[in-house]
Amino acid sequence: MLEPRVIRTLEEIVGADNVTTHPTDMLCYSYDATQQSFLPDAVVFPADTAQISLIMKLANVENVPVFPRGAGSGFSGGSLPISGGIVLATARMDQILEIDEENLVARVQPGVVTEQFQIAVEKLGLFYPPDPASLKFSTLGGNAAECAGGPRCVKYGVTKDYIIGLEVVTPQGDIIRTGGATMKGVVGYDLTKLMVGSEGTLGIITELIIKLLPLPEAKKTMLIMFDSIDGAAQAVSAIIRGKIIPTTLEFMDAATIECVRKATDLKVPAAAKAVLIVEVDGEAQMLDRQTSRISEIVQPLGVVETRIAATPAESEELWKVRRSVSASLRNVNPDKFNEDICVPRSKVPDMIRRVDAIAQRYAIPIVNFGHAGDGNIHVNIMVDTKQEGQLEKAQAAIKEVFAAALDFGGTMSGEHGVGNTKAAYIPMELDPAAVAYMQTIKNALDPKNILNPGKILLEQPVELD
Ligand SMILES: Cc1cc2nc3c(=O)[nH]c(=O)nc-3n(C[C@H](O)[C@H](O)[C@H](O)COP(=O)(O)OP(=O)(O)OC[C@H]3O[C@@H](n4cnc5c(N)ncnc54)[C@H](O)[C@@H]3O)c2cc1C
Repeated sequence: MLEPRVIRTLEEIVGADNVTTHPTDMLCYSYDATQQSFLPDAVVFPADTAQISLIMKLANVENVPVFPRGAGSGFSGGSLPISGGIVLATARMDQILEIDEENLVARVQPGVVTEQFQIAVEKLGLFYPPDPASLKFSTLGGNAAECAGGPRCVKYGVTKDYIIGLEVVTPQGDIIRTGGATMKGVVGYDLTKLMVGSEGTLGIITELIIKLLPLPEAKKTMLIMFDSIDGAAQAVSAIIRGKIIPTTLEFMDAATIECVRKATDLKVPAAAKAVLIVEVDGEAQMLDRQTSRISEIVQPLGVVETRIAATPAESEELWKVRRSVSASLRNVNPDKFNEDICVPRSKVPDMIRRVDAIAQRYAIPIVNFGHAGDGNIHVNIMVDTKQEGQLEKAQAAIKEVFAAALDFGGTMSGEHGVGNTKAAYIPMELDPAAVAYMQTIKNALDPKNILNPGKILLEQPVELD
């Protein structure tokens, strides 16, 4: 519960219309895509950097935690107010400030929706590749804070590869600029890279400088169906081994196909036990050669059927199917746990086999889909947590999935981040000295643990004077 004087000061900073404590609003801002719920005490909608700076200064004086929030589409609880306090929503800071066509650079506010930005730059023949499947609602600030990935990242890299500068409000309310609009720059520590992926624990991003590419001339999308999961998983490494890096290499297993079949018009023969959505882009004349080469490579691995989208509209239909996967699985099982391990690409077949063995041992369905081209598999553990013992089973299975990913030289999370959901598992992946190093950074920048406490690093009491 916030003191009335704190609410009054927040109203003075952002205007009374831009602060709410209404119970219905508190409920709306208590969720993200993990299905956890923690009620905040207030939600504020600042209009600019100066207001955010004042909010952070107030929070430090009053010892109130602040939780930055974009669209709240995170899969690891990053934006959730797990200890009450203030949710700071960036929805009003949604302007594209500049698209510099001469230098292929843009400046944006953090609340810009990812797809809106992509549409704006594509109108000018430019390209912003990172494309999380949530792009219709996620924000660029949230993408940067999570270092979001997406299907196209197999060829083009992830969000951190495109953020070259930032404006940030520090946990104590100072305003700093990191990096800049140049393609090179090595003066001082690389604070841009430190901020990107820090999940709103080290500062609030108030402006982003983004590198752009020329828009590829053409693209071609293929849907390749396989008679076994193993065949599809082996196809992923076979394509890469064949020295082709497609724009996307997305994987769906049979259970995923079944779920999306119920929710979309996707027509897939019963013999198809797994599919890959493969897209290539570049000069139009090169694309047929690339798709033929991919077909040749995968043919011996049990291909049931290959479809090639003939028009951009057909290609968009395929992508609609892919983007509907998460929601389709959630419709079938609202309690599912969605993990996003990432392994070296050559280990994808081994990882899929290991997940299958875990599913059989615990007798729980585990559904796999995701960005197989960069080894990033979304492992969905489909339990009904209302049934006795299911939650414990899911937790044990998750731990084994993480252990398997680490065994294969991978990581617990390729793009969804740690938030509060994976914080307890961090010691499985990082050695104690690395965790202590991170804690030292957090303590130095945020001595009162005001900004997004309890995320990434488990909340530890900090000695206050
Ligand atoms: C259907 C669906 C599909 C998805 N597909 C993908 C995918 O393909 N790839 C992928 O990577 N993710 C995916 N996600 C996860 C999610 O969309 C991404 O993590 C996204 O980047 C979150 O953006 P957001 O604006 O919703 O941020 P939020 O969820 O609001 O916040 C995420 C984190 O960023 C912090 N944050 C937000 N704004 C700021 C800011 N301005 N400054 C500092 N910190 C900030 C928050 O505190 C929190 O820790 C998907 C989610 C859904 C629901």
